[in-house]
Amino acid sequence: MQDSADQGAAPWVPPTPTIAGLRAAAPACRGCELWAPATQVVFSRGPSDASIVLVGEQPGDHEDLEGEPFVGPAGRLLSDALRAAGIDEDAVYLTNAVKHFRFEERGKRRMHKTPTVTHLRACGPWLDAELAVVRPRVVVALGASAARAVLGRSVGVTRERGRILDGGYLVTTHPSAVVRLRGRDGFESAFDALVNDLGLAAP
Ligand code: SF4
Repeated sequence: MQDSADQGAAPWVPPTPTIAGLRAAAPACRGCELWAPATQVVFSRGPSDASIVLVGEQPGDHEDLEGEPFVGPAGRLLSDALRAAGIDEDAVYLTNAVKHFRFEERGKRRMHKTPTVTHLRACGPWLDAELAVVRPRVVVALGASAARAVLGRSVGVTRERGRILDGGYLVTTHPSAVVRLRGRDGFESAFDALVNDLGLAAP
């Protein structure tokens, strides 16, 4: 699934993983430099036998502070979209392609910085191990970075969204892109498009 032979996180990934074992091992990862300025690793939540895995890009500011994925504004919008799509969020396994928050400081604020392909590759062994354990029916990649990590190639979200791809992959927009439209033209249609995509993964 990954497009690199880089070692990255591989030495830190347990050879016979369980989700609990992966969560326990991840804080020690030094597969790239992102661990150093971050507050903590943000791994995943949800059942290890989920039929749907949602993969985001990386934790954001809220997630970094709380140590939980999808707890900030984008996570709340994702919850709304899952509900509208008829998907029980508690039955979904939620994770990110990169497990540490990448940011730059501007004054007192920490501004999101998109992870590079090098970061996606470095962190890939964690995602590969999670998917090998969970073995979901559908893997939903939220946004281009997640799609790159999941499919191992560059992905145009607009071109490839709206259908289940070979292997049970679904590409859609990241909820943070919809959050940014709030209060502006296009918010409702962007939200509806996200719901429609997620609906393709519904049981
Ligand atoms: S971002 Fe991933 S590879 Fe880099 S240190 Fe964190 S867990 Fe390891």
